[in-house]
Amino acid sequence: MTSQSPDSKIILDSPVRAPSSVPVDDAVLPFEVAALDLRGRLTRLGPTLDDLLAKHDYPAPVNKLLGEAIVLTTLLGSSLKFDGRFILQTQTDGPVSFMVVDLKAPDRLRAYARFDARRLKRGADSAALLGKGHLAMTVDQGPDMSRYQGLVALHGGTLEHAAHEYFLRSEQIPTRVRLAVGEEWRGGDGGKHRWRAGGMLMQFLPKAPERARQADLHPGDAPEGTVPHEVKQDDAWIEGQSLIATVEDVELIDPDLSGERLLYRLFHERGVRVFSPLRLSAQCSCSRDAVASMLKSFAAKDRAEMVQDGKVVVTCEFCSSVYQFTPREAGVEEGTA
Ligand SMILES: [Zn+2]
Repeated sequence: MTSQSPDSKIILDSPVRAPSSVPVDDAVLPFEVAALDLRGRLTRLGPTLDDLLAKHDYPAPVNKLLGEAIVLTTLLGSSLKFDGRFILQTQTDGPVSFMVVDLKAPDRLRAYARFDARRLKRGADSAALLGKGHLAMTVDQGPDMSRYQGLVALHGGTLEHAAHEYFLRSEQIPTRVRLAVGEEWRGGDGGKHRWRAGGMLMQFLPKAPERARQADLHPGDAPEGTVPHEVKQDDAWIEGQSLIATVEDVELIDPDLSGERLLYRLFHERGVRVFSPLRLSAQCSCSRDAVASMLKSFAAKDRAEMVQDGKVVVTCEFCSSVYQFTPREAGVEEGTA
């Protein structure tokens, strides 16, 4: 087991130095602003995001929304302290009705989406594409360990909102999340087009828990005239939130602005410490053996129904790899297909 806790790396990191101007893509950079009791992570995705999306042939609005879900997954799942899996899933009534992003520790990402092309409208924002439903986060630590699942309702807002609500209700940790996805054109018209994304997660983690108390997000069904539940927010958290609110989408995805410089730009007055980046890659974990054993787990009748033109063909939804089996290899008994 490897520890990725920032705590364990503080001693290893060099003391104060200038922020690196070299942009590092496809990585999560953990950081800490000790003076404000803030901990966070900054994700920059370049070629890896392009690879993940290129496995499919989705329309641009679907790519953008799935890109947001991928960034959110890297922000939430990159702190896994075991060789497990973090899976983010949305199931909603919008044009993009299903998304799944799977992060296999420490660095392997894969993702896909299901959508109704007839309902995709030009210019629809991410919230409208998602619609209402729920977002589920699963931490899978292997067959002998219990799975953890967190659920949050999507009320027609963005994935950022859903993340805020999850941390407020389930974890009671004051949290802010920013997600940005954009297209980059190199070489003018007809040039090469690439997807880029960036995001930031910031949490207020004071030693005294009473400092982290928060007001409810929604007043709910309280009768008219009820005084809303008011909690005075801690000054450090107010400052942290106002700083992260100044981050522009273009800064999060700018290929020429390093993550370290962006953090320095935000927090230089208070001092920010960064830890070793965690690299990410687009890599599916499917294999012919895994597909074969999945086929064997099906009922004989279902296996028999999968035979078409004398073969069983299985396509991986994550990476579009195609696996072909003879009926015999797929465990179909003779005479049943
Ligand atoms: Zn695959």
